[in-house]
Amino acid sequence: MSQLKTPAITLKSRKWGEADRIVTFYSLRFGKLRGVARGARRMKSRFGSALEPFIHCDLNLFEKRGDSLYRITQADIQETFPSLREDLALMSGAARMVNLVAAVTAEGDPSPRVFETLLGGLRSLQEGSEPGLTTLLFQIRLLGQTGFRPQTDHCTACGKEFGKSRRVGLARFSPQTGGLVCAPCASRHPDRCLPLSAGSLAFIQQALHVPASVLPRLKATGRVRHDLEAAIESYVTVVAGKRLPPVDFLAPPVSL
Ligand SMILES: [Zn+2]
Repeated sequence: MSQLKTPAITLKSRKWGEADRIVTFYSLRFGKLRGVARGARRMKSRFGSALEPFIHCDLNLFEKRGDSLYRITQADIQETFPSLREDLALMSGAARMVNLVAAVTAEGDPSPRVFETLLGGLRSLQEGSEPGLTTLLFQIRLLGQTGFRPQTDHCTACGKEFGKSRRVGLARFSPQTGGLVCAPCASRHPDRCLPLSAGSLAFIQQALHVPASVLPRLKATGRVRHDLEAAIESYVTVVAGKRLPPVDFLAPPVSL
């Protein structure tokens, strides 16, 4: 057994046996990992509270040969993001962020960019930026960093390049193929395509390419925002292989 250390963010935590927890993290050095925290539920210590979702901590862990489950021995809290536990909209945004990271990353495949994107996304929510827009930007950015970058330069069905002269306003997005489709291809499968305005397309391209520090300046409202949310929600469902809990899953049911 060798002792390891890494910064990490808690994605999921569930009870295990009488007093233990199995926790899934996205870590800087090892990517997604799962570990057993023995006695985490017994102790009224910072160890247990460091294993709640959305916590940024420094982990000490052991790797056991032949076992994919790490043994977590210590977790020192770096950031707790308290607002993400107090405000429903912020909590929903943060839940979407960690759920998407859990869904699109593989264990033991580290990406410092993914770690920084998740940390940056949680910090943006905590700092009070608009939660719906922050979550949308995060999703586009993360998809771009994990091999699921939405394709915008050629038709994802027939491969035809769009080029600079492509008429704006006619773009269609296919969640199944993960990108734009040309008009003839879209007309063959109209039920599988979603409209994407020129403004929505420009927003996706900016979200993928601008430096992280510029992200908070990107804005989307009205039709652009609506198209983007519908396209990304459908695409995320395809990529994750399941419908992730809706962003408002914690909202109280509407009484009729
Ligand atoms: Zn085509």
